[in-house]
Amino acid sequence: MNEDIRQLLVLQDRDAKANRLEAELESIDPERKKTRRESIRTQQVLEQTKQDHMQLEVRRKDLENEVESRKEQILKYSQQQLETKKNEEYQALGREIDHTRQAISEIEDRELELMEEQDVFKTKLAEAKRVAEEAKASEAVMLSDLDEREKNIEKELDELDEEREELVSKINKKTYAHYDRLLDTKGGRVIVGVDHGSCGGCHMKLQAQEIVNAKSGREMVTCTNCGRLIYYTREMIMADELDYSGHRPAEKL
Ligand SMILES: [Zn+2]
Repeated sequence: MNEDIRQLLVLQDRDAKANRLEAELESIDPERKKTRRESIRTQQVLEQTKQDHMQLEVRRKDLENEVESRKEQILKYSQQQLETKKNEEYQALGREIDHTRQAISEIEDRELELMEEQDVFKTKLAEAKRVAEEAKASEAVMLSDLDEREKNIEKELDELDEEREELVSKINKKTYAHYDRLLDTKGGRVIVGVDHGSCGGCHMKLQAQEIVNAKSGREMVTCTNCGRLIYYTREMIMADELDYSGHRPAEKL
């Protein structure tokens, strides 16, 4: 095989690898952000649960104060009962006292309900705390994993860069320029094999002379349709023979 072709095939393989690594490198920052977002989200859930829990406590305290003030009201009514000489007023105060006692009992029922709600919230709060702590811990692990991955990829890319420079220095300048020009537009497949008499890139039939030239390996053949560099190997010759005769090589033997 032509030495330039051999080097170009290695170069194409390394360039594909570098492309994959660069794509992976680009995915690291979004992953970092996702990890942080997830941790912040669980922290927010915890804060909200804490606030809801406190809110319940405030409401319960309000009810407690209300009970206290109603009890004072009852004391006042009782005092007024002692002081009045009018039977009608005495009875009216008695009714007020009954109403207030009724109100107190209703408030105390609500207080009990609130306390039950608080119990449920204690469980919720403990769960939210656990989830937030776990997210924090896994965030730390994941971020350090991502840092490590990033460092490794950067190192690999540096090594590929060095290898690339070395490869390029060995390839004919015109041939390399041709390769480099097509690299971005041909999806990383610039040097392709002959595929049953056609260009392995665009699949247009090649001219007999082009195949002969590719087989000889003495000069670089380019596809007149897509401009890709064409090469030919012994395996392809066998595949072509197999195709034209319609037999498997094993049957021919
Ligand atoms: Zn082509």
